Amino acid sequence: TYVIAEPCVDVLDRACVEECPVDCIYEGNRMLYIHPDECVDCGACEPVCPVEAIFYEDDVPDAWAPYTKANVDFFDDL
Ligand code: SF4
Repeated sequence: TYVIAEPCVDVLDRACVEECPVDCIYEGNRMLYIHPDECVDCGACEPVCPVEAIFYEDDVPDAWAPYTKANVDFFDDL
């Protein structure tokens, strides 16, 4: 799955939402989140993010590793 990390916070550009073929990018209060079970790993969202906030799960920078869990937890809390 793909993960949205810290650069999205308070940006919420939403270019990724337009690109996602399965509509699995959802809006939270301060950032967007990718549903880990709905994402089909197409990669379409990654290059359109103007702040480079989107990473394949294995490529999330260590400093932003907690965002992988945050993307999962967001949907658990709904
Ligand atoms: Fe949507 Fe594809 Fe990005 Fe997954 S990788 S969130 S399916 S655009």
